[in-house]
Amino acid sequence: MSLADPRRRARRIALLLSAILIPTAALTLLVFRVVRQENELSERRASEQRREALDQLRRELTARLQALRLEEVNRLIGESGRRLPPDSPIVFVAPMVQDRMILPWEDSRTTAPPAPEFVRSQRGGESREFREHDAAAAAASYRHALDAARSPWERCSARLWLGRSYLKAGMTVDAEVTDHAALQECGDVSDADGVPFALYAAERLLASGRGDGPASAYVLRSASAAQWRSPNEGFILQSLLRRLASPAAAERLRTLAVEIRNQEQISALAQDMHHQLGSLQQASRSAPGDLSWMGYGDEPWLLTLVSPASFAAPVLMGVSSRRIVPAGVTLRVAPAPGTVPLGEGFVDLQVEWPAGRFAVPPAVSGVLYGSILSVVLGSALLAGYLLLRDVYREMETAEIRSHFVASVSHELKTPLTSIRAHAETLLMGRAGSAEMTSDYLKTIVSESERLTRLVHSVLDFSRIEQGRKTYHLQATRLDDVVRSAAKTMEYPLSQLGFTLTISSDGSGPILLADPEALTQAILNLLGNAIKYSGEARSIEMRIGTRHGEAFVDVVDHGIGIARDDQSHIFERFHRVSSIETAGIAGAGLGLPLALHVVEAHRGRISVVSHPGRGSTFSVRIPLQAQA
Ligand code: ADP
Repeated sequence: MSLADPRRRARRIALLLSAILIPTAALTLLVFRVVRQENELSERRASEQRREALDQLRRELTARLQALRLEEVNRLIGESGRRLPPDSPIVFVAPMVQDRMILPWEDSRTTAPPAPEFVRSQRGGESREFREHDAAAAAASYRHALDAARSPWERCSARLWLGRSYLKAGMTVDAEVTDHAALQECGDVSDADGVPFALYAAERLLASGRGDGPASAYVLRSASAAQWRSPNEGFILQSLLRRLASPAAAERLRTLAVEIRNQEQISALAQDMHHQLGSLQQASRSAPGDLSWMGYGDEPWLLTLVSPASFAAPVLMGVSSRRIVPAGVTLRVAPAPGTVPLGEGFVDLQVEWPAGRFAVPPAVSGVLYGSILSVVLGSALLAGYLLLRDVYREMETAEIRSHFVASVSHELKTPLTSIRAHAETLLMGRAGSAEMTSDYLKTIVSESERLTRLVHSVLDFSRIEQGRKTYHLQATRLDDVVRSAAKTMEYPLSQLGFTLTISSDGSGPILLADPEALTQAILNLLGNAIKYSGEARSIEMRIGTRHGEAFVDVVDHGIGIARDDQSHIFERFHRVSSIETAGIAGAGLGLPLALHVVEAHRGRISVVSHPGRGSTFSVRIPLQAQA
């Protein structure tokens, strides 16, 4: 091979790789860029959606709250005594008097001072009841007070004292009548703690187990009334409902619990009004007019200050956020991961969107591009592999060709030189004796035969390569084939001092075979046995039949073949390069040709060899082919 070859090969491979790799890399980069752009685009789309949704939510809430506010202003100006409808999102409305919040359940009505006659009777009753412990006498005084009562408050308190003293005096029937009357009359009249007198009467009736029908009915009715009650009333109602232990009572208890919680929050707000007012005023500064709202509490509530009219005190209004936001959306007071400020017109209010609402749509195109890219990459790699393989094959063929020419020329030169030298000696008449002349002539004939064999081998090889090698089968005795080969080699064997022993098991196998081709194969094995015998000078050939096969073993005691080389020696042009084989001429064609011939006869060749101890090549051909 020329010196430029490795460089040319490297250049070709580099060219090939760049032809495949550069466009592939460019394509990959392009695809990555497109996918990244697409992802950025969908991210941008998602954030736009988020902004739009926030704007829309703010618009909706503002409109809704504005409507509620107007409705409430009208209600306050018009019929302020009207109660809020039960399904209203407004939780409470509380007037502000000198920066103080009037609680919704605070009773601002003032009662006229009781008449002196009433007060006298009441005091007398109390003295008899608590100092003298004369319940019956006390009852008489309270009865007197009841007669003297002018206002509902006087009447109801007198009834309550009367009932209590009747009960103490053991006049249960009178006590019951009095308490029932209080139950009917005093639902709307409350004491200084904001508890209706009727509720005390109901408590007493239920505690003593008297006529609990009307009493429990009153408790249930009172608990379901949609109105603000004082915290005291709420707690008493709660304990009475617990005592009733009916499904209806359980239901009321639940709503009452919510109400009590709201009450607590409103009370806390009232206590903290000073601080909250600052925030509220700041909120109203952040938006024109009084369109601003502030978040407060756990739910949270939306608070705003409403001015019903220029002459009236402002009113603090609380709206339930849960009842006005669209489903899935949650408002919060404190910022948390994933929340965004509701923005203009709203202070301390964060929006939490339902999970996954603005999820970036999965990049379908990414998957698509990915698959296209992998197909392209795959085919580029496959094409590259196929191309590379072709290039390698081509280079291998070129290498084989040049190798072949070199080895064959060398092989041809040796016998030609020998023939020429012997012929020249004869020509010049320097042969001396007749015996010498005969020897020289025999050498010339033998070397010519070797040349012929070599030319045959080359021709055979070229026929095999082109698939044109044909075999002419006929009944062939294996013994004859082996003896013919031995005969051909007789002269070189004797010249080199070899002893060849041929043995047979006497089975004399006959095969349907091409005798010439078979002889050539055996000759190649025998030739190798001679060439690679080293110092050894004996070769055996064994013929026989075993396990339905005819066999020929060619045994030498020469240099042997290393285990690693044994699997390669049947490849074309393969020659073992070692110190022992150096200087032995050969083209690496003998064994591949022999193998081809034997395989054409459906046979096999195997080798058993030990370096330094010799080799045994066994040809085995099935006997089915026997003629
Ligand atoms: P060639 O003999 O022309 O080199 P072959 O195809 O006949 O080619 O043999 C291939 C190689 O196998 C040889 O180069 C040699 O190294 C090895 N070989 C073949 N026969 C023997 C043998 N009997 N003993 C040792 N080595 C052998």
